[in-house]
Amino acid sequence: MNNKFDFIIIGSGIVGSLVARELSRYECSVLVIEKEIDVGMCPSSANSAIIHAGYDPKPGTLKAKMNAEGNRLWHEFAPELGVQFKETGSYVVAVGPDELPAINLLYEQGVKNSIPGIAVIGREEMLKREPLINPMVSGALWSPSAAVIDPFGAVLAAAENAVVNGVKYLFETRFLGFIFNGTRITGITTSKGDFFCDWAINSAGLFSDEVAHKAGVKEGFQIIPRKGSYIIFDAAKFSINNVLFQVPSALGKGVLVSTTTHGNVMIGPDSQLSENKEDSSTTREGLLSIEAGAKKLVPSIDVRNSIVTYSGIRATGNGDKDFIIETAKEVQGLINLLGIDSPGFVSAPAIAKRAVELLKEAGVKLKDKETFNPIRKPFPHFHLMSHKEKAELINKNPAYGRIICRCEEVTEGEILDAIHSPIPARTYDSIKRRTWLGTGRCQGAFDYPRVIQILARELKIPETEVTKKGKGSELVFRRTKEIIA
Ligand SMILES: Cc1cc2nc3c(=O)[nH]c(=O)nc-3n(C[C@H](O)[C@H](O)[C@H](O)COP(=O)(O)OP(=O)(O)OC[C@H]3O[C@@H](n4cnc5c(N)ncnc54)[C@H](O)[C@@H]3O)c2cc1C
Repeated sequence: MNNKFDFIIIGSGIVGSLVARELSRYECSVLVIEKEIDVGMCPSSANSAIIHAGYDPKPGTLKAKMNAEGNRLWHEFAPELGVQFKETGSYVVAVGPDELPAINLLYEQGVKNSIPGIAVIGREEMLKREPLINPMVSGALWSPSAAVIDPFGAVLAAAENAVVNGVKYLFETRFLGFIFNGTRITGITTSKGDFFCDWAINSAGLFSDEVAHKAGVKEGFQIIPRKGSYIIFDAAKFSINNVLFQVPSALGKGVLVSTTTHGNVMIGPDSQLSENKEDSSTTREGLLSIEAGAKKLVPSIDVRNSIVTYSGIRATGNGDKDFIIETAKEVQGLINLLGIDSPGFVSAPAIAKRAVELLKEAGVKLKDKETFNPIRKPFPHFHLMSHKEKAELINKNPAYGRIICRCEEVTEGEILDAIHSPIPARTYDSIKRRTWLGTGRCQGAFDYPRVIQILARELKIPETEVTKKGKGSELVFRRTKEIIA
């Protein structure tokens, strides 16, 4: 591969992936480097997945501007990119009379942030719209433009569309430092060698402070990691079609009860300072506080119907905690996208457009690419199809007739699609995130051996080299009856 590019993007979460897609609209060469084996490993795939309406950020901040603009853009991007997206709207629910004034304040803030269609609704109306809500409800803020998204699906779709439009990706490639000519950045050093560029874009999420420091800029800026955990419920045992928030506190939006694009209910997150940027473990205290918070909204929630718990880590900046989206001042050739915590997912399309505007403001000439194709056709999801569609698909390719995951009805055909896609799935977890295999009641107990065999066959590697999520997470060590010499 040629090692000189116009732009190098560091990190492929939702922000880096959408910057890559924005740049692929123009005649230029773009490389994305990612330290993990896949796109969007965390936190872009471990969050509440809410396309927030935008009443919450303080008026006049970048968070307020990017959230409102990002919400509008997701309504355009999700269908273009074939991303699962449910236009649910959302409610902030006041429980008891004391919480009602906070709802009115949020309404006024939403008006200042120009959020479309928001309204305060009364107790009776809220009980009608969500019969499982706490009967002590006193009113709610209704925001019709809020939605829920498949977060990993969105990162993948943006990255795949960027690749189809000419962007190059390198995985398992860790950024180590910048190469300078005087004060001008001319390239980066990585765990896979040096790459040269005119501009670097720092979208390294939790590590964006460390990347900026390597350029000798933003020395006082630091990411303060804050962990948030979730509990997911068995769709067959408990369902709700709404997004329900508590009245926010100084710590943030609080625990929510929400439907997901896959029809499960999720509750969470809590907010705990975390010493380690990569520690996504859950704790008993955290899960108990989530249960209590969720029961305040929906008292009938029974955590015995949960199927899985997990955590994501927020990349909150120190200082005023607003997003930082800027061209570095002390060096040339660097765009910093820092402190992109919540509402970073909804804001990402607007942040990506702003990053490209900053490049243009710095004098970069970008010529439209006539062949740019904004449309990404998603691969078939067998369990979402009618009997007729399923029969047609199996007729075309019998691999769609072999069920590998019984709980979620995922077929061998879908696994092959994932392995042979523009961003190829090379691990068990990569297939899981693309197909939803292993996310049902049995959590993969049935499909693991079959997926290991398929990955080994398609990647032409021994089964002992198939991993869960990259080197060090091999799934089998030897055949059961193998003789060890
Ligand atoms: C608990 C929780 C709930 C949230 N809920 C919501 C919500 O409902 N709605 C919303 O809008 N937002 C929400 N967010 C925020 C949202 O998830 C983030 O703002 C967003 O995902 C940030 O994306 P990113 O691309 O900036 O960062 P990341 O997803 O962290 O991506 C950065 C990438 O850079 C890579 N990287 C880092 N260092 C290096 C290196 N040295 N070399 C190469 N690659 C590197 C990483 O591996 C990673 O893939 C939530 C976040 C959390 C944690």
